[in-house]
Amino acid sequence: MPGVRRVRYIELPMTTLTTTEIRNFIGGRWVPPTSDGALELANPATGEPLGRTPAGSAAEVDAAVQSAHAAFPAWRAMPAADRVQFLFKLKALLEEHLDELAALITTENGKTLGESKGELRRGIENVEVACGIPVLMHGYSLEDVAPGIDEIMVRQPLGVCAVITPFNFPLMIPLWFLPYAIATGNTVVLKPSDRVPFSAGRLVELIHQTGLPAGVVNLVNGGRNAVDALLDHALVRAVSFVGSTPVAKHVYARGSASGKRVQCQGGAKNHVVVLPDADQETTTKIIADSAFGCAGQRCLAVSVTVTVGEAKDWFPESISSAASGLKVGNGLDPSTQMGPVITRASRERVHSLIGQGADQGARAIVDGRDFQAGGEGSFVGPTVLDGLPAASPLMETEIFGPVLSVVHAASVDEAMAMIDHSPYGNASSIFTSSGAAARKFRNLVSTGNVGINIGVPAPMAYFPFSGWKGSFFGVMHAQGRDAVEFFTDKKVIVERWPREWSRKF
Ligand code: NAD
Repeated sequence: MPGVRRVRYIELPMTTLTTTEIRNFIGGRWVPPTSDGALELANPATGEPLGRTPAGSAAEVDAAVQSAHAAFPAWRAMPAADRVQFLFKLKALLEEHLDELAALITTENGKTLGESKGELRRGIENVEVACGIPVLMHGYSLEDVAPGIDEIMVRQPLGVCAVITPFNFPLMIPLWFLPYAIATGNTVVLKPSDRVPFSAGRLVELIHQTGLPAGVVNLVNGGRNAVDALLDHALVRAVSFVGSTPVAKHVYARGSASGKRVQCQGGAKNHVVVLPDADQETTTKIIADSAFGCAGQRCLAVSVTVTVGEAKDWFPESISSAASGLKVGNGLDPSTQMGPVITRASRERVHSLIGQGADQGARAIVDGRDFQAGGEGSFVGPTVLDGLPAASPLMETEIFGPVLSVVHAASVDEAMAMIDHSPYGNASSIFTSSGAAARKFRNLVSTGNVGINIGVPAPMAYFPFSGWKGSFFGVMHAQGRDAVEFFTDKKVIVERWPREWSRKF
């Protein structure tokens, strides 16, 4: 076994932020927030101050919801084929501004430029799928359900929809919902993460540039005050939320209690299972990317690798080499392979959880706490914890940092039992060259997303995306057809025209 390894660091203080103004967008106009600043923001790579996110207030939320409510009748009456023209324009603008948007995401979130571009690609994909709403929103009908009587199901928009998003994908996650919501004829109030308000602000500027009618998309900045005001507002019909499990539970319970339609994606603790017959080189590369990409702050990041049988003999060593070979630094440097975690508080939390792992019996083969970044960035080095006991509380804790635990099982069944035991069910993967083992795994494993020799099994925009168990609260998932289902109500019309069609009435 290797000793503790160290990771290279490149310091490159740079920023691309041109404004520190955080404004709300209500009724087609940018307005300064009226609530006090609540959260100091800093570039995670440099510590450079970026601004202060206002706390958000019920009055600001009410203004945004009223504006969305007022815009709804005309917007829902516009033909779907005309509504999606704004999304075609948005796609073109997002493509045109891809580099600028990626640099903005990296500046406020810390992930690498490549990762920022990747998240934008996945976001744009959702805009593309929502452009198909004139087909996706079809209902269905049947003639002569009784003599002369026809029955028709149509889908209609709900009204004002709230979209509440987390810090780790500042642009992709708003785009999981917003394009579908407006394409189906709803109006939206977006409440982005208070930790990354700039990318969402820029997104809304581009949406405004498409010429979208005033009030169809509104933006309110803030934290829990703004969220609770949205949950309690009588005119908000639906809430789409992504964030940590405790907040997801709160949003689901409070939103549902007032009769809203709610979908909440929560936290995760994802496992990958490595069988002895897996290809060693690609398995290591893919798992390293999953565990340490976005500094471990992806809801689909692998957090626990379960080696089965003899995979134990090679995996800890190979993943340690991969982890310690990563270039960690400012994501704006194109050669950086891993950026910082979101805040210094997050770094302290991750350090403390690594310490708990060590106290609970794991061995830090690569220890990110030793990582010396210099400067004020919130860096944690890639970390590999070997042999965490099954009973350790850390086995069930979402670390949300670049920390991979490696544990061992005698069989695939034992590995799947560990996954089954987890309170979360976002994703799991298996690495093997055995079709039979892979098929059994995908058939029985208790997670909403499954990878076969894939480290981050993120569904494309035309497939639904959600986890199971404590990773999701609701019924309809995000993206694609589920999004159309979530953002519309079904209405069934039973129709008779006596004189013309029916002899009996
Ligand atoms: P978070 O729960 O802290 O914040 C999410 C949103 O809720 C933000 O807009 C925030 O302002 C708001 N919020 C925070 N605390 C609140 C409170 N007490 N009451 C009401 N609103 C509150 O999440 P985060 O740290 O921004 O994001 C990381 C989390 O999101 C991780 O747990 C990650 O697994 C999860 N996530 C899940 C998915 C998924 O698809 N399942 C995707 C991305 C992120």
